Amino acid sequence: MSDTRIVHFLAERAPATPCLVVDSAVVRERARAFAAGFGERALRYAVKANPEPAVLRAVLAAGGGFDVASPAEIDACLAEGAPGESLSYGNPIKKAADIAYAYARGVRDFTTDAPADVDQLARFAPGAAVSVRLLVDGPASATPFGRKFGCPPAQAVDLLRRARRLGLDPAGIAFHVGSQQADVSAWESGIAAAAKVSAELAVDGIRPRRLNLGGGFGVSYRTPAPSLGEYTVAISAALRAHFPGGAPELVVEPGRAVVAEAGLIRTEVVLVAERAGQRWVYLDVGRYNGLAETENEAIPYRLVPAGSRDWPEDEPRGPVVLAGPTCDGDDVIYQRTRYELPLSLRAGDRLDILDAGAYTASYSSVAFNGIEPLRTYCLD
Ligand SMILES: *Cc1c(COP(=O)(O)O)cnc(C)c1O
Repeated sequence: MSDTRIVHFLAERAPATPCLVVDSAVVRERARAFAAGFGERALRYAVKANPEPAVLRAVLAAGGGFDVASPAEIDACLAEGAPGESLSYGNPIKKAADIAYAYARGVRDFTTDAPADVDQLARFAPGAAVSVRLLVDGPASATPFGRKFGCPPAQAVDLLRRARRLGLDPAGIAFHVGSQQADVSAWESGIAAAAKVSAELAVDGIRPRRLNLGGGFGVSYRTPAPSLGEYTVAISAALRAHFPGGAPELVVEPGRAVVAEAGLIRTEVVLVAERAGQRWVYLDVGRYNGLAETENEAIPYRLVPAGSRDWPEDEPRGPVVLAGPTCDGDDVIYQRTRYELPLSLRAGDRLDILDAGAYTASYSSVAFNGIEPLRTYCLD
């Protein structure tokens, strides 16, 4: 844990709360671990998890590329010196103008899952490499994609044929098992389906050379997640079983597992109140300025008393309902998930939210109730 560097920064600078502090050294280390686990050129960091320039530089320093979803994410990566060919446009939902913009900036790698998108790729990104995204189940995902993305194997075969017919490069097959995927065997069905699609295409002489395993690698919030090693062991075994002749070139697009552990949110208690026999603790961070992933209590962050005063280990604690600072009834953080905090907690006390580098600042609203987006400080 790098929290010591972050805590040192907070003690020295005492920035206004709430704020997110990210340690770039941890991002670099996590990015290198993915490159070591899946191959030197495999990593495409999913920018949406945290697009801070220092985070992007740390990924670049580790030799990684980027999974982008919009012109603004492309610009953010290019501004930090990423070459266009290190970017892949992984969002299957894109306007023709966005494809043309990406192509003009040197992006040559796109993911698709629908015929109309293949047609517009052929027109606005001629000759580009295309991967088709398969629909896979992700039952153990904390934030599943449902049926929004991906197509069945038979349609994937058609789409890659269509891509070749239209002059595109039918380069690969992709899938994403859903974010915060706690089941290491979740990748197997996608790998099996990809092998089936490849085998069918061999008849036409189409050989997708790339397999994009998406993101979804978990982080240990309150519940422990598998280690990266446990994911790679399970995935390697599935690859050996379904591609006995040798696995395709691998691509991984982790977002959460690269940046979550690098970040800590410091927040201040705004109000403590008894309501119908429950102790409500209102923080200055909530669903709209950093904790969007507490919707449905999907992500149970670790919370520790911090900062302004000492909290002895044996400080008596009791259950709380945690809520954010806005006037919105949905801005409740944890009501069903049991959290216990010191009974002496009062306004002005500080709490640290651990492993909060992913999907926090990037999900903040711009000014709901006049509250600014979560401020981020990056330690180089
Ligand atoms: C969001 C996203 C990712 C990253 O997912 P994590 O669960 O954060 O690893 C990867 N690929 C695509 C296409 C995505 O949309």
